[in-house]
Amino acid sequence: MQALRQHESDIASILGLNLNQKPIVINVFQSRRSYQEFVTRIAPDGKERRALFIQSETHGSVYVYLHADVMTDLRHETTHAILHSSLPFIPLWLDEGLAEYFEVARENRASANQHLKRTKLDARLILTWRPNLTKLETVRDQSVMTARNYRESWAWVHFLLHGPDAANSMITRYLASIEAHDPPGPLSTQLRRVWSKPERQLTSHIKSWK
Ligand SMILES: [Zn+2]
Repeated sequence: MQALRQHESDIASILGLNLNQKPIVINVFQSRRSYQEFVTRIAPDGKERRALFIQSETHGSVYVYLHADVMTDLRHETTHAILHSSLPFIPLWLDEGLAEYFEVARENRASANQHLKRTKLDARLILTWRPNLTKLETVRDQSVMTARNYRESWAWVHFLLHGPDAANSMITRYLASIEAHDPPGPLSTQLRRVWSKPERQLTSHIKSWK
């Protein structure tokens, strides 16, 4: 729980968010079985997932069960909870990209996320590597998000947080607009105002990142 407090303040300072708009309740089950029994009742679709986050009017609820890598699940789901407690809405790709980014321990975030290695490999395959944020923005249903969609969402987040200064200020301004209930429109449009082909910027960022 102490680590999650640190996680929360980290996210707030990196993304420039104001915290604690709505409380977050964390439910930890002792076994996969007890987790599944409970989740079946409240969200049958979540039963096969390793962890779950549900936002209600008054608070966010995180559901996980104990296993060797439970901290990753806790960091992933509480990232969703923190974002949803501070923001009135968030595009799905950005929600998942940030959760994938923040799910790894702090010291490994920038350079040791499992997605980095795989995305570097993806980026070498010129014929099949077709990142496209505009297309990713049209995916509105989590159940149809593919592993590649998650990876690409993570890659955009990495570019926005570790890429050029203009990208970094763009993401904090973007989230601040959402926080102020001022819908900023698609981020892909903003990226294209700065770079005519943001996908190229993304690819060179990922390829050169150590
Ligand atoms: Zn998620």
